[in-house]
Amino acid sequence: MKLVKNAYAKINLGLDVIRRREDGYHEVKMVMQTVDLCDTLTFERREDEELHIYTDNKKLPCDRHNLIYKGAMVLFEETGSRMGADIILTKRIPIAAGMAGGSTDAAAAMLALNEMMGQPLTKEKLMKIAVKAGADVPYCIMGGTALSEGIGEILTPLTSPPKAHLLVAKPDIDVSTAFVYQNLRLQDLKKHPDIDGMVEALKRGDLKGITDRMENVLETVTIPAHPVIGEIKEICRAKGAMNALMSGSGPTVFAVFDQKDDAERAGEKIRERGLSQEVFVTGFAGTEGCV
Ligand code: ATP
Repeated sequence: MKLVKNAYAKINLGLDVIRRREDGYHEVKMVMQTVDLCDTLTFERREDEELHIYTDNKKLPCDRHNLIYKGAMVLFEETGSRMGADIILTKRIPIAAGMAGGSTDAAAAMLALNEMMGQPLTKEKLMKIAVKAGADVPYCIMGGTALSEGIGEILTPLTSPPKAHLLVAKPDIDVSTAFVYQNLRLQDLKKHPDIDGMVEALKRGDLKGITDRMENVLETVTIPAHPVIGEIKEICRAKGAMNALMSGSGPTVFAVFDQKDDAERAGEKIRERGLSQEVFVTGFAGTEGCV
């Protein structure tokens, strides 16, 4: 039995941090959005109970450090049974980029293996246990547009935004999520994103209302440390973007355009200036995180 799944990337249309909990986790309020950029995973049953992971990206671990493995283990622990599989990952989502690339692969693995094992768990149950594999994994199982609260595990589906063209560019730098959260000065933030206003704009199908409220408090840490992010945002705005924002803890920038040509021109300029090698013109994707 062979199963193929596309695992989609996400962006944060808005990202607020509410407080730091006693246990060190941060409580967030984010608008998550699936984008039309995906990894592809192929699953094939093995006779034994081992998981063998293969990928075309040499930077990724193929052992238990791969998030695919972590997702599978969470499923196996919950069901009390295991299944061996050869898993081939074709990686397209930029790595360590703020696009939940690893989390979406873990989500795809949980969905696929659960399916191949005869569906012992419902999708709702999978979403509940997925947080053990990572804060963004429950959302990646759900997909589409969602409000994410708590540490990312409290999810409310939202109306999807109207069609638009997206430019996604990952600068060639590495940003550590831990560094960004550790250096966030919550008490110094002058203002917080209007997430409730964005939810209302989504309900109205008001693209300008959405883009006018695109804000990410983590930019206050990542942009001063990596000015290239600000430069990419500037180029996007100069080329006609309705708005541009860093996704997650960065360094990926996404920009929303109403004209595809403008998005392409911004992408060309970013490449020409040598600010990023990983540039995609894409769009918002529908309600399925992994299909
Ligand atoms: P998030 O938006 O959830 O913070 P991210 O986009 O910043 O995620 P990932 O691409 O998920 O970051 O990768 C984070 C780390 O996880 C990398 O250092 C990478 O080596 C490791 N990793 C393990 N498995 C995977 C995988 N399947 N895909 C991507 N990264 C993986």
